[in-house]
Amino acid sequence: MNPFKNPIFISKVLKSYLFDIDRLWKLNERDLQKYRDKHLKKMVRFAYTVPVYHDKYKKAGVHPRDIEGIKDIEKLPLISKGDIKKYYPEGIISSKVRRERLIEVSTSGTTGKSLSIYVDMFDIVMGLFGYLRTLKEYGINCRKDKITIIGDFAPHTAESGYITRGLMPQLKLDLLLKNIQWLNTNDEPKKIVEDINRFKPVFIGGYAGMLGHLAVLKEKGYGKNISPRYIVSTGSVLDKTLKKFIEEIFDAHIFEAYGATESGPIAFQCKHGIYHVMSDLVHLEFLKDGEPVDSREPGQLILTKLYGKGTPIIRYNAINDIVAPLYGKCDCGLSGDLIEKIYGRDDLSLIFSDGKLLLPSSFGEIFSKILYELKTNKIKDVIIIQHSVTKIEIQIVIDEQLRNLGPSVEEIFSFLKQRFQEKIGPQVEIFIKEVKKIDKQKPRIISKVDRSRYKITRYI
Ligand SMILES: [Zn+2]
Repeated sequence: MNPFKNPIFISKVLKSYLFDIDRLWKLNERDLQKYRDKHLKKMVRFAYTVPVYHDKYKKAGVHPRDIEGIKDIEKLPLISKGDIKKYYPEGIISSKVRRERLIEVSTSGTTGKSLSIYVDMFDIVMGLFGYLRTLKEYGINCRKDKITIIGDFAPHTAESGYITRGLMPQLKLDLLLKNIQWLNTNDEPKKIVEDINRFKPVFIGGYAGMLGHLAVLKEKGYGKNISPRYIVSTGSVLDKTLKKFIEEIFDAHIFEAYGATESGPIAFQCKHGIYHVMSDLVHLEFLKDGEPVDSREPGQLILTKLYGKGTPIIRYNAINDIVAPLYGKCDCGLSGDLIEKIYGRDDLSLIFSDGKLLLPSSFGEIFSKILYELKTNKIKDVIIIQHSVTKIEIQIVIDEQLRNLGPSVEEIFSFLKQRFQEKIGPQVEIFIKEVKKIDKQKPRIISKVDRSRYKITRYI
């Protein structure tokens, strides 16, 4: 049955719409904590009906009644990607939920290791509410203002699961969505710029890389009518200078939203630029060598999702992001936890002999310099292969249509080489070569170095 015709579901959504979006503004810290405790308890009880969790908890000798709230969360074992894979498909859903009611989504697999989990319609709605909450902070009203969202609508992705398979067929005529333009980030930037130009949104959401492309096009005279008030960047860490470049080109304020396939929305930047965790929807832990880190110290993100009837996500250790928490308050007065910095994917990083770990935020920084310093987007695709701690190979695909415009390929290559050398030091050899194409399925960052042989000393 279509859940949007089900009165119980509708009333749940309406209730959620009225209360959930505002929760971080309305609840004080103490009430929010109570809410979180209650929902964690509920999720752990629910997870006990899901074989993968049931088995893990039994083995660890922990029972749902041992969990009174967030303070007890460390009693629960961590759950890995491997655990979920091993029990997929039947073992990752509750015996109390019918599988037809769930939608399967996969993580993007930038490392070549994708993971499938299940979500339900309510998850999808909550995911959207997370977005709406972000809009609320910026005074955007999705019933009045036009919004463009450039998502990853390749068939397997979460966004396709959430939007095209889950939400769109159900909500086709809903007022809530009529002001939203959905575009596909896999399309050519030129097509996207034209679509946005026709729609004239006040708000644009998209991946950092695509936003960079759009800014370069705008600077070249495309998209004359595009003048959003706000731009939200997702997907990867936005480098400061690229951020400034995009802001200047569009004359708009840009902020970042942070989320994951497994959890939906996680955090967003308020007007002060501080990351606020959606603490009513998720609980975050930050661990280094198994211990919680101090404020502002980078640690491995451990994620717990506090809602949903799909695959539970409780103490999940495979988001693979390095994130530093901020133990304090923001002047804006929103309740919930704070994040100081998101460093990026730790499994997409490269390690060097002195224990330095080069994180994706650094790659982003280097490649975005090509956009705003060399003013070119002729790099169509790139793959970085670390052969050893002293040797890196970078393969580049050049956009044929742009080959003879702007700086030469040689110039770009020497620019890249110099920037990488500055980051990782002169002792590492860097080879850059042009290739015709790169296999779409292939991870974009590959390291052949056995990481277990090195102790991480610092993140760069
Ligand atoms: Zn704030």
